[in-house]
Amino acid sequence: MFSIHADKKFERFEDVTPELLKKSGVKLLLCDLDNTLRLHSEKEPAEELAEWIEKCKKADVKIVIISNNGRKKMMRKFCEPLNVPCVWWAKKPLSVKLTATMEKYQFKPEETVMLGDKWSTDVLAAKFAKIRAWKVEHRRDIIKI
Ligand SMILES: [Mg+2]
Repeated sequence: MFSIHADKKFERFEDVTPELLKKSGVKLLLCDLDNTLRLHSEKEPAEELAEWIEKCKKADVKIVIISNNGRKKMMRKFCEPLNVPCVWWAKKPLSVKLTATMEKYQFKPEETVMLGDKWSTDVLAAKFAKIRAWKVEHRRDIIKI
């Protein structure tokens, strides 16, 4: 049955383990960037992010970052060291970039998951693309006083 809710919920992206991805038949993991894989203020990928991406790659899961962020230069600089493709200005909740990415890398909707922090963009875009939506908690900057 069609549901507009996230299919799974997690605290953070690290909770999405390669074992879980394998068990769930996920071969393509589309990831939101801001407040999902990084805090807005992070200019460079955190070590835990780089490690998590490596582990997913080793488990044969393709990762593509799909962000609504339109700052191409910043996105490129952030994604390059991770060696993952990234799509900017994706206009989620429109599903066009999600579908185009599945076609480009030749994965089926049932092999694909969209992981993101926001219902109104990430979850809805996944639903429109007829793929599973996995939601993480919105990551917030800790303001140090
Ligand atoms: Mg986000």
